[in-house]
Amino acid sequence: MPAELTSALWIIFFALSGLLIGSFLNVCIYRLPAGLTIVRGRSFCPNCRHDLAASDLIPVLSYLLLGRRCRYCAAPIAARYMWVELLTGSYYALSAALTRPGSFEPPIWMNTAFYPATDFYFALLLQVTSVLAFSSFLVWAMILYDQKKANAGVIIFSLISASLRILLQPERLFSHLVAGLAVLTLSAVGLLRQNADSSPVAGFGSRLSLPIMLVASLLWLLL
Ligand SMILES: [Zn+2]
Repeated sequence: MPAELTSALWIIFFALSGLLIGSFLNVCIYRLPAGLTIVRGRSFCPNCRHDLAASDLIPVLSYLLLGRRCRYCAAPIAARYMWVELLTGSYYALSAALTRPGSFEPPIWMNTAFYPATDFYFALLLQVTSVLAFSSFLVWAMILYDQKKANAGVIIFSLISASLRILLQPERLFSHLVAGLAVLTLSAVGLLRQNADSSPVAGFGSRLSLPIMLVASLLWLLL
């Protein structure tokens, strides 16, 4: 297969996965703060509680084709579900474009441990850890944005996926520092909210959580 075709398929595959995962992240953002499970249970309309069919759950398309309303009760669907899907799809595609096979050399420790670490599997590992870290940061930031407490499970997942990402490219020190700063800022915002619910600083911080996360994730990819 020609290299250009492989790259194009690689990017398209991750763009589509990003849209689907974005849809799952919406579920996490909605259910985790409410203490509901994310592994079981059909998706339902938050207004009429009607179970959603597969055709109601196609990322972005269902929202637009259904006229931005629930098929069963006609309640308007918030646009942010679509934005989370588009954002996730775009990040997955951008990250795929930057990490496509052959773009980076595996680190020395990996060549020693898994000799030979092939370009394809290294690119796959890089991409998977990159999008896992982004996905968990996004859920973390959105839960903060909704003015709810940070979720411990999401934070632990973020830290593990970010650490794996750092292990794969230890030489990109500056880039990792940016991500580290974002994690510290999000933690600080979370603590402020938890300890001072009515403080204006806390309100300001939760509105900033999404831009902080987005800018940091982009810089982490690009620097
Ligand atoms: Zn409904």
